[in-house]
Amino acid sequence: MASDRNGETTDRAPAEAVGTPAVRFAHESEEEFARILDFYGISWQYEPRTFPLRTDGDKVVEAFTPDFYLPDIDTYIELTTLRQDLMTEKHRKLRTLREIYPGVEVKLLNKRDYLRLLAKYGFGPPSPRSIEGVHRVLVSAPQIRRRVKELGAQITKDYAGRTPVLVGVLKGVACFMADLMRQVSLPVAIDFMAISSFDNVNGGYVRILKDLDESIDGRDVLLVEDIVDTGMTLNHLLTYLRARKPASLKVCTLLDKRARRLVDVPLDYVGFEIPDEFVIGYGLDYGQLYRNLGFIATLKPGWMEEQAAQAK
Ligand code: 5GP
Repeated sequence: MASDRNGETTDRAPAEAVGTPAVRFAHESEEEFARILDFYGISWQYEPRTFPLRTDGDKVVEAFTPDFYLPDIDTYIELTTLRQDLMTEKHRKLRTLREIYPGVEVKLLNKRDYLRLLAKYGFGPPSPRSIEGVHRVLVSAPQIRRRVKELGAQITKDYAGRTPVLVGVLKGVACFMADLMRQVSLPVAIDFMAISSFDNVNGGYVRILKDLDESIDGRDVLLVEDIVDTGMTLNHLLTYLRARKPASLKVCTLLDKRARRLVDVPLDYVGFEIPDEFVIGYGLDYGQLYRNLGFIATLKPGWMEEQAAQAK
């Protein structure tokens, strides 16, 4: 697996990389590892750097090329087989590498180890197979963390000197609200509303199931949404909130499915623009499940239809 040649550096954007193995791997397990990284939306490079370990004059006589580099956690990964003869040699090389390059983080992993590592860094449960129905990760946990931090910083700057009220719409906003409010370094109040969702059978209109607890008259209101799809829900909510005479009313949404917009709604803060696909995770549900995933993912093609057919 580790080779003494200079591997080509291939920086892969995780979302686009799925199913497009442009890299030629030396071993099947490396390709599987890359697929798992892609599944979790983790950026990786294959054999980007060779570390000289021993030289004879100008000539490198021994070197070590770890299999992967994960820029998000600044760590090199060397995958292992369980062949003891190879392991002893690998351990020796790693010891030497750590002595010569003390600032470089290299982890030696077997398959069980690397699934655990991914779970530890918040990329989800230890195996993709354990989340039934999930197709692929569209926005990974580290990508969400980074973006929520940026949004929080922007909101802190824009509302400096004021005490905004963050209004969330239950239940999809639960994760986003919890993370976003902790990234806003201002005194903030929070409040929640719950609304009825569209009923295919009975039709009807958006009903308020839970109203705000406090008055927003004269307050700076920031409506926090999980996702804006057609924009109809948000449009209704904005009309409702405007009638309660806030000093200002802005919108922050984590996801924007712009391609499906039917009503033109103003979005002041957007986490990610996503394609026209049904997504789950990080608060978003399918049949009330999947809200607890740390990332945003799509469902397997046909999964919803299959589940609906089974429920009949
Ligand atoms: P809109 O009124 O903009 O069409 O829809 C907004 C609401 O529909 C969201 O608050 C959310 O509850 C639901 N929704 C829209 N797209 C998705 C999606 O891709 N996944 C999930 N789980 N809910 C969605």
